[in-house]
Amino acid sequence: MITVKPVRAFNDNYIWLLQRAGDPRCVVVDPGDATPVLLALAEQGLELSTILLTHHHGDHTGGVRELLSHGPVPVYGPAGESIPEVTQPLREGDTVSLPELDLELGVFDVPGHTAGHIAYYGGGMLFCGDTLFAGGCGRLFEGTPAQMYQSLEKLASLPEDTRVYCAHEYTLANLRFALKVDPDNRRLQDRVSEVETLRAADECTLPSTIGEERQTNPFLRSGDSSVKQHAESWAGERFTDPVEVFAAVRAWKDAG
Ligand code: ZN
Ligand code: FE
Repeated sequence: MITVKPVRAFNDNYIWLLQRAGDPRCVVVDPGDATPVLLALAEQGLELSTILLTHHHGDHTGGVRELLSHGPVPVYGPAGESIPEVTQPLREGDTVSLPELDLELGVFDVPGHTAGHIAYYGGGMLFCGDTLFAGGCGRLFEGTPAQMYQSLEKLASLPEDTRVYCAHEYTLANLRFALKVDPDNRRLQDRVSEVETLRAADECTLPSTIGEERQTNPFLRSGDSSVKQHAESWAGERFTDPVEVFAAVRAWKDAG
């Protein structure tokens, strides 16, 4: 059995720590800061065996060098981005074998937030960095709305019970925005109250599931008539293509 625990970093980053019962080795995803990871390893008596990276941003990669200074481990990351510490560059269709977890992960290219962003999928889990968030999606720093739309569609087509491990605790702010776009969505209203309760207790709102995201995340709901209608009235124009709806909702969120 694999356990996946969040290691908190900075204000709202999660570094995911994966470990299999009875094996002291562990895998971390997107270690932006080494200090909380080293602390978690010491506390739990674990040794780091693999690092997985989703994209080049410092809040996801900044701790890698210090972690490697304690002993070299393979560092998997996007082939399309220049991250000097990456030893195993990956692109869509590649697989990562993690014997310490008895797990194989597949790789998706998910450009949009950054140009070479990748996501890892396997064992019913998705590690998607800053592409798909609970209730939201990453900002488009290096990609077009069409690219991000396609990346999100790829992730949305995974099985509904896939657990979504994204890299930030943005859920409540995302869902409060989602209510503006999709105000009559009962599932969304219920999710907001659940997440409010979790956050009031300073608890992690992740993982969510692909099924939950498909029902409540406005960035996966461009084809929904109510989402389309609200996006159109915010933008003051008519849309014929779901990519236009997606782009308007992204612009709406960016406008604050
Ligand atoms: Zn990022
Ligand atoms: Fe980030």
